[in-house]
Amino acid sequence: MSEENDDQPVALVTGGGTGIGSACCRRLAAEGFRVGIHYRSSEEKAEKLCAELVSSSAGGAFTIKADLMDSESLDALVKELKSAAGRVDVLVNNAGYNVNAPMLAMNLDQYDKVASVARGTWYLTKLVLRRFMMRKGSGRIINISSVVGHTGNAGQIPYTMVKAGLDAFTKSLSAELVGRDILVNSIAPGFVATEMTDELPDEIQEQILAKVPLGRVAQADEIADVVAFLATRGSYIHGSVLHVNGGMYGG
Ligand code: NAP
Repeated sequence: MSEENDDQPVALVTGGGTGIGSACCRRLAAEGFRVGIHYRSSEEKAEKLCAELVSSSAGGAFTIKADLMDSESLDALVKELKSAAGRVDVLVNNAGYNVNAPMLAMNLDQYDKVASVARGTWYLTKLVLRRFMMRKGSGRIINISSVVGHTGNAGQIPYTMVKAGLDAFTKSLSAELVGRDILVNSIAPGFVATEMTDELPDEIQEQILAKVPLGRVAQADEIADVVAFLATRGSYIHGSVLHVNGGMYGG
């Protein structure tokens, strides 16, 4: 864990140990944030990334564990954040969970797991707002949704429902935060090269790629660049969904 500095802004990235989340942590540290790398199961990856960020000349980092499916775990995370960081200036709700199965094969337990990560995202945001951002009167909340929340996707019904809901959450919360310097936005990525997409069968990957006018998948850094922009600039963007998908869908 790097040393706390009262003046240094802090960014919390959920699911920071892997994929897009790790790229966001690196990019935000390069922008001078002290980064809270949240993880659930990817402890080794999160600790390795933390060591990398602490030893670099970037803003430093610490790790923090919680299961978004468990509200008590999130209460404990926010308590720990109080002592580990004392502030949260940017919250990147990046963690997500998907089960690939067609409608008739999907069971209630699978549906509940996908939906309870969304419930946890809502609850964590509420806690971070209450404990940190409302008191300070400023903050940035960046929700990582998905193009499939807009286009739909066969075999991912609960996931697409949750991602569409996350963009609705962005819009509704932005409307509640009237007159405050707390900006809430979504970034809806298209197809990004990470472990989540590696798991898709080859023929599905090829079908998706055929729909991308840029003719390639995104690298996680290309999503993290937009996260960094919203975290540090983007001062008049609020309640928006930024589509980052190589031309697949324009919103
Ligand atoms: P990933 O590497 O599988 O990341 C998913 C992250 O979510 C992991 O770090 C995981 O943490 C965390 N997570 C899952 N369930 C959790 C739970 N119950 N509690 C806490 N954390 C949990 O995939 P990714 O591609 O980087 O995805 C990052 C985000 O981008 C997700 O929201 C995903 O839906 C979205 N997205 C991805 C793509 C794409 O093409 N890759 C496209 C559009 C949107 P642990 O590993 O520590 O358990």
